[in-house]
Amino acid sequence: MPQPPAPITALTQVLLHTPAYSQMAGALSYLSDAPLPPGTLVRVPLGQRELLGVVWDPCPAQATDTTLDPARLRPIAAALDALPPLSASWRALISFAASYYQRAAGEVALAALPPQLRDLSSMQLARKLKKLAKAAAGASDTPKNPLPAPGANADIASQPVVLSAEQRQVISEFQHNPGPFLLFGATGSGKTEVFMQCTAELLAASSDAQVLVMVPEINLTPQLEDRFKARFGSRYGFDAVVSMHSGMTPAQRLNSWLAAHSGAARIVLGTRMAVFASMPRLKLIIVDEEHDPSYKSGEGARYSARDLAIYRGRLEDAKVLLGSATPSLESWHHSRPAAEGGRYLRLAMPSRIGSGQLPLVRRVDMSHQPKSCVISPPLLAAIAQRIARGEQSMVFLNRRGYAPVLQCTDCDWKSECPHCSAYRVFHKIDRTLRCHHCGLSERVPRACPACGNPDIAPLGRGTERLEELLAELLADTRRPDGQPVRIVRIDADTTRHKGALEAQLAQVHTGDVDVLVGTQMIAKGHDFRRITLVAAVNPDNALFSSDFRAAERLFSLLMQAAGRAGRDETVAHKSEMWLQTFHPTHPLYEALKRHDYPAFAASQLKERQQAAMPPFSFQALVRAEARSQETAQAFLNLASQAAAGQADTAALLAQLTLYPAVPMSMARIADVERAQMLVESPSRAVLQRFLTAWQGVLHSTRALPECKGVMRWAIDVDPLNI
Ligand code: ADP
Ligand code: ZN
Ligand code: ZN
Repeated sequence: MPQPPAPITALTQVLLHTPAYSQMAGALSYLSDAPLPPGTLVRVPLGQRELLGVVWDPCPAQATDTTLDPARLRPIAAALDALPPLSASWRALISFAASYYQRAAGEVALAALPPQLRDLSSMQLARKLKKLAKAAAGASDTPKNPLPAPGANADIASQPVVLSAEQRQVISEFQHNPGPFLLFGATGSGKTEVFMQCTAELLAASSDAQVLVMVPEINLTPQLEDRFKARFGSRYGFDAVVSMHSGMTPAQRLNSWLAAHSGAARIVLGTRMAVFASMPRLKLIIVDEEHDPSYKSGEGARYSARDLAIYRGRLEDAKVLLGSATPSLESWHHSRPAAEGGRYLRLAMPSRIGSGQLPLVRRVDMSHQPKSCVISPPLLAAIAQRIARGEQSMVFLNRRGYAPVLQCTDCDWKSECPHCSAYRVFHKIDRTLRCHHCGLSERVPRACPACGNPDIAPLGRGTERLEELLAELLADTRRPDGQPVRIVRIDADTTRHKGALEAQLAQVHTGDVDVLVGTQMIAKGHDFRRITLVAAVNPDNALFSSDFRAAERLFSLLMQAAGRAGRDETVAHKSEMWLQTFHPTHPLYEALKRHDYPAFAASQLKERQQAAMPPFSFQALVRAEARSQETAQAFLNLASQAAAGQADTAALLAQLTLYPAVPMSMARIADVERAQMLVESPSRAVLQRFLTAWQGVLHSTRALPECKGVMRWAIDVDPLNI
């Protein structure tokens, strides 16, 4: 005889990733046969589908909601109760991120979980967890695998390090203060070593402590990963150090996530997404290169992983250590002396390890060089000299492709993209015109499409053309072994295939390359020991950009690039950073010459204060997309007017500024017109309250007939690109 079904009693709130902007932004109610603790993962029916969800903290409003008729509620399909529930602080982090960045909590929560969780049964999960537990237990009592991680520098792993006085000082301050900390250390000052020491100490202090180490882009900073894996893998077992980034397969991501969630992983190394990793014993969060813009998400919830790290540290009572040679002006400002209102403790390491010196910065005044020359004669001579000595040079230019525009020499035709407000870039290697925004790629026409003139010529210069030019200019230069010069280009075009970047970097490391040409990709984190000359071919553009953060980004890029040179003590005295500029006395370059970040930051902060810009004010952007620019702007302007007509938003208008809608700097991409509206307030709390109240206004404005053509809109809180 079949058993009668058990009575279903418990009312359970479940957070789901419901479609964006649907009415069901909060948790939904389901029935379960027993109360499930908040944080439990469940599978629930929604319409015809079954979705992964997280049991959420009961919300009092819903408990008393009279529209909830238990007879109409559906039971959950399954509880993944083999997994320990997600912790209260994890849930608090999700709730905070969702409300601060103005997104649905379900979207943020589900985006933070590995996609493969959706497909596993509770049984399969239980089996995976058992395997992890075994591995973790094995690691703690067997001798460690002595093999260093692939690519790791063996001596880093095994030899004890004698810390520099600056490192010792910084570590001692870290030990005796709660933080958060900003480690302001020159490139090559040994920040990574400090990170590892602080990590080692916290891991040793308690047998289940976990550390989260965040890096901007993992394939751009492979050495940090290698060093952590080498040092801690040999100590705690290689399974105890896991990675978390979007380049991993779904299966790898699931394994890392489970290892972190179950506590088997002691160290999680990851990109911005890792800030949401479930780590029940989190004791320390490290944010390396904290100034890097890639910590800010560009889609979905546009969160800043660096800012969330600070918040998470408070929630979990974990220390937070940010590090950079060129901190973001926000973090720099937060780390001013406590007496002036600073909230972070600034730790400084101004000197490079050993006798390694920062490179000499040389500015070439391009107004005194042959007209329209790209590599000035003195720079060329300096590169040739390095080659003859068997040293490496790095030349960077922030533009890939051969030439940014193709132009008819007769008429006005230029290689505009028909779908975007941008030119298509000429790529000589496959003779295509490619739009870097919508991806449109076409063969280069034989003749001008407008007038038939066969003479169409490249205008301007990208890395591909720079590489060609350098090959030409250095054709007669010889390496010490008498061989011709070897030039390698590294940019998004040469590294499209998996493993290509690693292979190219390995080539540079083994010394097979004399001149490395590339975009800013090569200026970041790599530890190229034999590079003694770094040159920025055309850095001036950013000096006069309309984006108020452009100068900050340029300074940091050039400092990072300069930091690539002179890392090898035996050749350090010769290392140089060259800048080709029409504005050699610009204060930014003056500060760079002195490697004086504090002076640069002080002058920038003064300007920002006078102009009431971040960090002295708080901003949000609302962006809208439509087929026409008028529609996109009309939507924003209507929503802005409506804010004045509604009591809760109107009350806040005196404390903030709503600017008129304007086209975005890239106004059209793939035939979609984009507009934006800036909202600014001297108070973060006021801005937050306004945005929360304004959400409803934006939704109802969108429903108006005149806004029918609006395809999408989104709020970006603390936007980086304006
Ligand atoms: P940063 O991260 O500040 O650029 P790193 O931590 O990469 O600097 O250190 C630069 C180099 O100095 C690395 O090769 C590192 O192994 C080495 N190093 C760091 N600390 C010490 C130390 N105390 N003694 C000797 N070498 C060190
Ligand atoms: Zn023409
Ligand atoms: Zn395009």
